[in-house]
Amino acid sequence: MKKYVYSFGGGTADGDKSMKDLLGGKGANLAEMCKNGLPVPGGFTVATEVCNIYFQNGNKVPKEIQDEQGQALAKLEKLMGKKLGDAKDPLLLSVRSGAKFSMPGMMNTILNLGLNDETTEGLAVRSNNERFAYDCYRRFIQMFGEVALGIEMEHFDHIFDEKKKKRKIKVDSDLSAADLKAIIEDYKKLVKKETKKDFPQDAHVQLDMSRDAVFRSWNNDKAVYYRRMEKIPDEIGTACTVQAMVFGNMGDDCGTGVGFTRDPGSGENVFYGEFLINAQGEDVVAGIRTPQAIADLKKVMPGVYKELREITTNLEKAYKDMQDFEFTFESGKLYMLQTRNGKRTGPAAVRIAVEMVKEGLIEKDEAVMRVAPSQLDQLLHPVFDNASLKTLTKITRGIAASPGAAVGMAAFSAQGAVAMAAKGPAILVRKETTPDDIAGMDAAKGILTAVGGKSSHAAVVARGMGRPCIVGASIISIDEKAKRFTAKVGDKTITVKEGDFISIDGTTGDVYVGQSKTVEPSTKSGFLAEFMKWADEFRGDFGVRANADIPKDAKAARNFGAEGIGLCRTEHMFFAEDRLPFMQAMILATDEKSRRAALAKLLPMQRKDFAGLFEAMEGFPVVIRTLDPPLHEFLPKREELMVAEVKLPHATAKEKKEMAAKFGCTVGELKKTIPSLLHRVEELHEMNPMLGHRGCRLGITYPEITEMQARAIFEAAVIVAKKGKKIIPEVMIPLVGGYKELEHQKAIVESVAKEVLGKAGLTKLKYYIGTMIEIPRAALTADSVAEHAEFFSFGTNDLTQTTMGLSRDDYTKFNAHYENLKIFKTDPFGSLDQEGVGKLIELAIQLGRKTRPDLEIGICGEHGGDPDSVAFCYRAGMNYVSCSPYRVPIARLAAAQAALAKGAKTESRTA
Ligand code: PEP
Ligand code: MG
Repeated sequence: MKKYVYSFGGGTADGDKSMKDLLGGKGANLAEMCKNGLPVPGGFTVATEVCNIYFQNGNKVPKEIQDEQGQALAKLEKLMGKKLGDAKDPLLLSVRSGAKFSMPGMMNTILNLGLNDETTEGLAVRSNNERFAYDCYRRFIQMFGEVALGIEMEHFDHIFDEKKKKRKIKVDSDLSAADLKAIIEDYKKLVKKETKKDFPQDAHVQLDMSRDAVFRSWNNDKAVYYRRMEKIPDEIGTACTVQAMVFGNMGDDCGTGVGFTRDPGSGENVFYGEFLINAQGEDVVAGIRTPQAIADLKKVMPGVYKELREITTNLEKAYKDMQDFEFTFESGKLYMLQTRNGKRTGPAAVRIAVEMVKEGLIEKDEAVMRVAPSQLDQLLHPVFDNASLKTLTKITRGIAASPGAAVGMAAFSAQGAVAMAAKGPAILVRKETTPDDIAGMDAAKGILTAVGGKSSHAAVVARGMGRPCIVGASIISIDEKAKRFTAKVGDKTITVKEGDFISIDGTTGDVYVGQSKTVEPSTKSGFLAEFMKWADEFRGDFGVRANADIPKDAKAARNFGAEGIGLCRTEHMFFAEDRLPFMQAMILATDEKSRRAALAKLLPMQRKDFAGLFEAMEGFPVVIRTLDPPLHEFLPKREELMVAEVKLPHATAKEKKEMAAKFGCTVGELKKTIPSLLHRVEELHEMNPMLGHRGCRLGITYPEITEMQARAIFEAAVIVAKKGKKIIPEVMIPLVGGYKELEHQKAIVESVAKEVLGKAGLTKLKYYIGTMIEIPRAALTADSVAEHAEFFSFGTNDLTQTTMGLSRDDYTKFNAHYENLKIFKTDPFGSLDQEGVGKLIELAIQLGRKTRPDLEIGICGEHGGDPDSVAFCYRAGMNYVSCSPYRVPIARLAAAQAALAKGAKTESRTA
């Protein structure tokens, strides 16, 4: 017969630590501690499977399992020498949740189960402490009432606080037994009023109802939210552990506490935790009384302290990881109630992993697997000071698009942000950002948008710049004209005006009103450096490059360990203030001659930028992509021009000057420039620009653009190569749908290269021409594309958009809905859709390498910095991933973990 209930106690246990799937972390570890002779109160664990059975069976536990539970209870009663519900000497129980993965505080617990009007009197006599017995009973009604009967805790609190007020009592423990009895009567009345039934007096009924409530808590809002955040599957369910109570609240030689074997904040190897004398578990967590530091336990209860220290030190050695434990001591005797691998911050995770290797507890490969790549974020960006954050009002949680904490004054336009930044820190708040906002984004400490998703303009650019950014904060309603936003928080409407301070956490997506303090983490941490060195050893020759457009970002990327540039979006250089007028002139040109004249002005600027990139990445490949976005993005908005046209005849001198600066002409030229810009904007207008005249389609219609860019690339290459530096240029053609487009553009690039390198006497300089795979047709015909491409780089932003038929700019309007309904596992622009888009990628790799076995393959879409997607890319056989500079260490670690998971050889990269 299948077993569903597992007993433990008295030095034996049915389960052990390997059975987390079935017993949950708590149940498995209690069984293990028990087996190892540690002082653990006896009990039994109802397996995780029963949670699923309970739901499938119409919220009922089937009779056979109920019977098995009855047998386990009988065994426990025998072990403890007490019976559940016995009026004279009742067995009291705790009922706790515990899934395979720890979900601290997300599910329910009930303590003191088994108390009723009769057994409480029995407990009072046995313990010779009436006050204690009634305190336990009132706690039980309260917990059971909230968890199993669904009564709001505030109703109980109200009764309790009223009594304290009436009796002029400040501390709970000053309430007498008589006070507590009166409170209990009121609690029972409350239960009757709320549930139309009496508080259940039958201890066995209490037990079943508590167990069922624990199962139901698997699906409460916070547990569901937590699972989504931590990517814990919904199907695994929680176990329910029932354990004999020991009492920390029976007098001054009793107490309870929680602790960690190392500091979970910093990782330092110190005994860490807190305890309360004469209290029960929930008192420590609830923060009603301030607990004492665990070091004080040494003075108060030296024997308990010594034993606890010994036990937890041994537990850490046995589990080979930092432990988070709970304990209670009753009349001076210590009991362990729980141990588990403790949650920790990013810096602590790295330090503990490194120090445990040095202590000989774990090997390097285990250390590398111990740190979640996303945890490195906290070591690379400033974070909020927690105490300071508590004083602020939280407005909302948007989509966390670029990590780090930022504090500044709200500015509602790019110009506003630039002006604000001159006075102090600014946060740019926009409905969404466009390339026009670049200067404002750069000037701001952080960016907040009301719409957009993980690959929106704001998200992509902010990540590249390393600016904290939150997008899709749909609760905020922005009035750009009035320079303010409003947000409804609960029943209050919060207004933030220009210049008001806000604090945004790009790691969590949280937005606050007010000014929080931040803490600068040290990126030069010795532990981090050492840890990353190990990760790189396991990563082998799988590369990590950066998406960087300007030399400053390229240098930052090198510092984070990037081994080249996987994508330089050349258009980002054209948005700079000194270049935009020439770009616009090029777009406005009506014939090739004037277009070439405008391009000639851009050439030296691009050349200088490219030379900077080659120098910053000396010895590593630099992928430069030819122009990609639709041309209208470089022109002012149609509405803006229409307004300017109407306003011009009445404009003041100051206004005209502003217009001239905006439209890149002199005041005298305004009369001609505005209508011609407007005309061209209307000409360039497209219904669906993302699928329109962009990518290689631009270079095909205007070959002189590709020609100028190729010239800038190779002239820059010549300059840097002549300084004796090793450079590896890779020219990339975007948005091809098949080989013909690539063939066309390649011919232009090759002819310019031949001319420029020939003239410089550098014909041997090796360069590569390749393409992005970001249109499904290119992936499906990758065998013929590879005949013309020396490398592929998957542009998974567009490939996701085009494969799923899902606009990368608009999908956030319904994405949350899709995620709630589990139609999308997660944001497909944040983490690669491996089943769909991933299949196309695998096919393209297979077809491409069939034609050209040494084809170099990478990814440069935003997914290149997402740990799950990096692991996919590794498995799919790519050569490298490329991501924003600040995500490079994360990608390095994710790749190392993918390599370890695949059982790759652990040879050193540096050898
Ligand atoms: C992509 O589409 O994934 C890509 C990297 O190009 P962009 O985001 O510039 O369109
Ligand atoms: Mg693209």
